[in-house]
Amino acid sequence: MSDAEPLQLQSTITCPHCAEARTETMPTDACQVFYECQGCQTMLRPHEGDCCVFCSFGTVACPPIQEQQYGKGKEEPTMNGPYHE
Ligand SMILES: [Zn+2]
Repeated sequence: MSDAEPLQLQSTITCPHCAEARTETMPTDACQVFYECQGCQTMLRPHEGDCCVFCSFGTVACPPIQEQQYGKGKEEPTMNGPYHE
C-alpha cells in the first residue's frame, strides 16, 4: 500500500432546477452543505440523509463518503442514520 487512495476531489453538481452542471472542487476537511447554483442562483441543500450537496447532486460523493466506500477496515455498513423512519 504505497499509494494513497484515489479520492476524487472534483464533482460535477447538476442543479435540479435549471440543469446547470458545474464541476467543483470539494474540500477534504469539511462537508459543503450549501451550494449556490451559478445558473439560477438557487441555494441547493442536501437531501435528508445526505451529508452534503455533493452526495445529493454531484457525480462524485464527498471525500469522507468515498473513504467509507473504499472500505477502510471493511466495516459492515450500518443503516443508522440521523433520521429514523
Ligand atoms: Zn440552477
